[in-house]
Amino acid sequence: MAGPVVVHPERLWRNPEPAAAYDVIVVGGGGHGLATAYYLAKNHGITNVAVLEKGWLAGGNMARNTTIIRSNYLWDESAGIYEHSLKLWEGLEQELDYPILFSQRGVLNLAHSLQDVRDSVRRVHANRLNGIDAEWLDPQQVREVCPIINISPDVRYPVHGATYQPRAGIAKHDHVAWAYARAADALGVDLIQDCEVTGLQVSGGRVTGVHTTRGTIGAGRVALSAAGHTSVVARMAGIDLPLQSHPLQALVSELLEPVHPTVVMSNAVHVYVSQAHKGELVMGAGIDTWNGYGQRGAFHIIERQMAAALELFPFFARAHVLRTWGGIVDVTPDASPIVGLSPVDGLFLNCGWGTGGFKATPGVGWCYAHTVAHGEPHPLNAPFSLERFVTGALVDEHGAAAVAH
Ligand SMILES: Cc1cc2nc3c(=O)[nH]c(=O)nc-3n(C[C@H](O)[C@H](O)[C@H](O)COP(=O)(O)OP(=O)(O)OC[C@H]3O[C@@H](n4cnc5c(N)ncnc54)[C@H](O)[C@@H]3O)c2cc1C
Repeated sequence: MAGPVVVHPERLWRNPEPAAAYDVIVVGGGGHGLATAYYLAKNHGITNVAVLEKGWLAGGNMARNTTIIRSNYLWDESAGIYEHSLKLWEGLEQELDYPILFSQRGVLNLAHSLQDVRDSVRRVHANRLNGIDAEWLDPQQVREVCPIINISPDVRYPVHGATYQPRAGIAKHDHVAWAYARAADALGVDLIQDCEVTGLQVSGGRVTGVHTTRGTIGAGRVALSAAGHTSVVARMAGIDLPLQSHPLQALVSELLEPVHPTVVMSNAVHVYVSQAHKGELVMGAGIDTWNGYGQRGAFHIIERQMAAALELFPFFARAHVLRTWGGIVDVTPDASPIVGLSPVDGLFLNCGWGTGGFKATPGVGWCYAHTVAHGEPHPLNAPFSLERFVTGALVDEHGAAAVAH
């Protein structure tokens, strides 16, 4: 299970001063922004591009997430974009020529009630119709995939079975960001850190540039990819997005020998567990229910979820917590993303990925780059328009999976 130890080279990309203007400015140097810049250059030949990041590359959710990658979503629209992403993940290490430690160790989504079982089996069938690998496992089969899970019926959340996606897994998040950054830089993209966008310049209904802490920069097009802060940036152009920003937290244990061979998620308990290549158990909680921008969560949220997790994994009782942290996730009313055009010409939106956008990094970067390059959505992201909150054509993954990771 342990992958190769990678030494981070001293310098992977240039550190340029901002130019006076770019064809495209991407706001936000997380995974989505970096992937978008890379695909703009690689797939569309648009290289006069800058990624503006207020802090450091991948200092936001990109390197705060629990790295679960899967595509077993219920609705056709979601399955389409997440499966496109998973296919890109499968060739990404070779494409970017960087060890991202993508490990297809499978993901189990546990069912704890009769209704969970019905929903899960329905999802397996829907997944298969969409060509996505999906299996229904009974408790004994769950235990074969994950021997440390407690399948006793005498716990608060007994395991009645699970969906299983064998091609799902995890990757090393910061390596993914560095891989995209390095590849984008090599194609001529300027990655500008410590450069906060403080205003959007709009003239005659069209975006013409951005104001930043390092001066005003002209832009033909501006692509927002600011995750939990997207509504704040969009507001600078007078756009009120249907987004709520919540803290979402996670923790890692001390390093253990390899004990957990797969990824386990439970939406009922709202806890999910994998074991990182280095050996830590990586565990997460549900979102903190209130809105906020402080990158930390409340202790009682994670305490409750860990109590439930211990019933599923009694084995973890003696593991020590090494550290906890939080990120800010942006959630839409149907808990599906917004990827497409905005009411301002030349200004594009990629947001609302909530708790589940890491897995989408290659897929959304690919689709968003297409959207920005052509000025219209790719068919894979067309259903995720802002207009759906007016037309009512929602992608209602909410009940199934979209608030899970
Ligand atoms: C604890 C946690 C666990 C998660 N687990 C999973 C998981 O297991 N699987 C999964 O698929 N997803 C998961 N997610 C969700 C996933 O991390 C996000 O959906 C995804 O990372 C969002 O895209 P991003 O990487 O571009 O975001 P970010 O990395 O947050 O990038 C946005 C960037 O925009 C920058 N920015 C903001 N405002 C400005 C400004 N004004 N000017 C310039 N820059 C600005 C920020 O500094 C930030 O770097 C998790 C999230 C959290 C917090």
